[in-house]
Amino acid sequence: MPGFEVFGAEERKQVNDVLESGVLMRYGFDGMRNGHWKAKQFETAFAERMQSAHCQLVSSGTSALTVALASAGVGAGDEVIMPTFTFVASFESIMMLGAVPVLVDIDDTLTLDPEAVEAAITPKTKCIMPVHMCGSMADLKALQQICDKHNLLLLEDACQAIGGTFEGKPLGSYGDLGCFSFDFVKTITCGEGGAVITNSEKYAVNADQYQDHGHDHVGTDRGAETHPHLGYNFRISELNAAVGIAQLDKLDSILAAQKKNYTIIREVLETIEGVTFRRVPEGGEENYSFLNFFLPSEELATKAHKALSGSGVEACFYWYTNNWHYINGWEHLRNLKSLAPLSSEIKNQIQDLNNTDFSKSDAWMSRTVSSLIKIGWTETEVKDRAEAMKKAIQSVL
Ligand SMILES: *Cc1c(COP(=O)(O)O)cnc(C)c1O
Repeated sequence: MPGFEVFGAEERKQVNDVLESGVLMRYGFDGMRNGHWKAKQFETAFAERMQSAHCQLVSSGTSALTVALASAGVGAGDEVIMPTFTFVASFESIMMLGAVPVLVDIDDTLTLDPEAVEAAITPKTKCIMPVHMCGSMADLKALQQICDKHNLLLLEDACQAIGGTFEGKPLGSYGDLGCFSFDFVKTITCGEGGAVITNSEKYAVNADQYQDHGHDHVGTDRGAETHPHLGYNFRISELNAAVGIAQLDKLDSILAAQKKNYTIIREVLETIEGVTFRRVPEGGEENYSFLNFFLPSEELATKAHKALSGSGVEACFYWYTNNWHYINGWEHLRNLKSLAPLSSEIKNQIQDLNNTDFSKSDAWMSRTVSSLIKIGWTETEVKDRAEAMKKAIQSVL
């Protein structure tokens, strides 16, 4: 996820436009801006690239998730179904609203298992939040059918899979709402930032207002604006948005480079007996930011991961024991360690996460190794990496 690898003159030029006018805020100061509306410009371009009617930029991917949920009316006591393999932002964004995260198993797509999702639905369920981890996607068709049947929202967390597609649609644009992150390690970055996309006019207006203290954004006098409802401050700054404009222009070339490098490595790993690959749901195309594969057992996966780092292959991850991405590492969530009392809805409704059976997730995660795909590698470097990976993996099989 290498946006920072291609940071250059284009990003500096965009930022300088903002620095020269001195208007670091996305709203107001019309006369001083020299015509620069970087956040608005990024939103228009991003909505178009994502084939969505609306885009709302915000301060991070995490806040994008919160804003998306709030915009669609998810709040205290509402249950949001999310996967066991994700980033901590999933439950953070839900609990921020007093809503209740319901963790369910993943399958060999490394994303939500539709059967596990259906089994977790209760009268309080409001939303299903698939997370397209490590460049590939959940079975959106199956999840959409479940949402239709039970009248639920489908909110895609596409933070790690920007540019991937499902049935020809950009990931994030398939569900009711889609969220993206532009933090520093994402496929395109603006330092810190995020986006919500939707085709719903209603959610778009709600998001626009909610992320800026409930401002109605009518007229040109910010001080005179009314507040149709309560909001918060999740605004992006013009400086960050400016970087994003330049990065978005590079998205397609980043995706092409990822695909090329991924393919070289995959073709070599495919020749190893015992290595299999994550399933991509029918109709999906990855964004190729990671190559994710399975070893035959937990023991072999642990050994392979060790052998990979031992032989100097950088950026291979074993998420099963990682503190950020899998339920095993979330001791603070499992034991509800909060600075202050949580809402009674969360306390009363949340699963006993220390004693919930996630053995199906364990079975996949304990066997998964992921290789990051960088775009700065030369062709020789990628080929050498592929051979080094093969040698390391074969040494333990
Ligand atoms: C990065 C990420 C987020 C959160 O994005 P931030 O901009 O870092 O807040 C959310 N979900 C997933 C899957 C991510 O990878």
